[in-house]
Amino acid sequence: MKRTETREVKIKDLVLGHNNHVYIQSMCNIPTKQAQKVIKQILNLEKMGCEIIRVSCMDMEDAKAIETIKKNIHIPLVADIHFDYKLALACIEAGADKIRLNPGNIGSKENVKVVVQACKQHNIPIRIGINSGSLEKDIHEKYGKPTAEGMIESAKRHIEILEELDFYDTVLSFKSSDPLLCIEAYRLAAKTFDYPLHLGVTEAGTTMTSAIKSSLALGTLLLEGIGNTIRISVNGSPEKEIPIVKELLKSCKLIDNVPNLIACPTCGRTQWNMEPVVNEMEQYLQTVNKNITVAIMGCAVNGPGEAKHADIAIAGGRNEGLLIKKGQIIEKIPQDKIVERLIKEIENF
Ligand code: SF4
Repeated sequence: MKRTETREVKIKDLVLGHNNHVYIQSMCNIPTKQAQKVIKQILNLEKMGCEIIRVSCMDMEDAKAIETIKKNIHIPLVADIHFDYKLALACIEAGADKIRLNPGNIGSKENVKVVVQACKQHNIPIRIGINSGSLEKDIHEKYGKPTAEGMIESAKRHIEILEELDFYDTVLSFKSSDPLLCIEAYRLAAKTFDYPLHLGVTEAGTTMTSAIKSSLALGTLLLEGIGNTIRISVNGSPEKEIPIVKELLKSCKLIDNVPNLIACPTCGRTQWNMEPVVNEMEQYLQTVNKNITVAIMGCAVNGPGEAKHADIAIAGGRNEGLLIKKGQIIEKIPQDKIVERLIKEIENF
């Protein structure tokens, strides 16, 4: 799918923007100074498919921990800094691959200048993050409430500061907890700026509410070609985010090597205990990097027909399932052996 035109921005060895892949991003939820725990979390997220990781930097201890973390992970690391330019400098020195900071919030022009110089020296980009909930007071008053226009106006202020210093390695985000405001703001941003966009709905809630809000907002934008990196934020552990974002990118046909699980809702025709099998397979498939369609169907009436287009399928019978491969019926499997057999088939696929 063609993406909207943007300039390209490099973060470590990844190129963001233009027609490049939409990168999956997440954020650690452990204090950065607890480096060993953070490393463990990042390595796990990497395995799940996370491609860029953000960590918060609250103090010098956090900033210093970045050096150790960087030595032990493989994906680019973004340091998230608010207000303190000295922390930004420390994170850059410690090896951060990108910083997230709003230049209008770190004090004097001199402060911004030294941070920008350090970014230029180390070839690292800056993400300016506009949140609808924290717009400048005068902008909020001008528009009376958080609006897309207000968010763009706020971004322009920060961008101008960087452009005056001849800095263009910028990524922008326009997050809101309101999915419709997100859509409006990102659409306007894509028309107004040529910088790559990091997509996200902020404070999106639990797994269920976030999956719905993020799919609505970010799915709409992705299908319009908008967005170059993406985070689905979910309350709690970031490991919950990755399967949702992969599912969304896969549904938008923006990612390969992610399995597709098809399962019927069950009905009065279902004569086997299907739900635990589907749940177990969903868990397992999150660890698989293959372009494979697996269908699990409740009955032998509609099941085989629906399963025809899957690579591997089960059509349930009475406490058993018919194994179907590429539309060909192979054999009957007893209910308690279905998961084991499906995993074996998927491994050999
Ligand atoms: Fe019902 Fe069969 Fe359709 Fe599943 S596949 S919903 S069991 S008819």
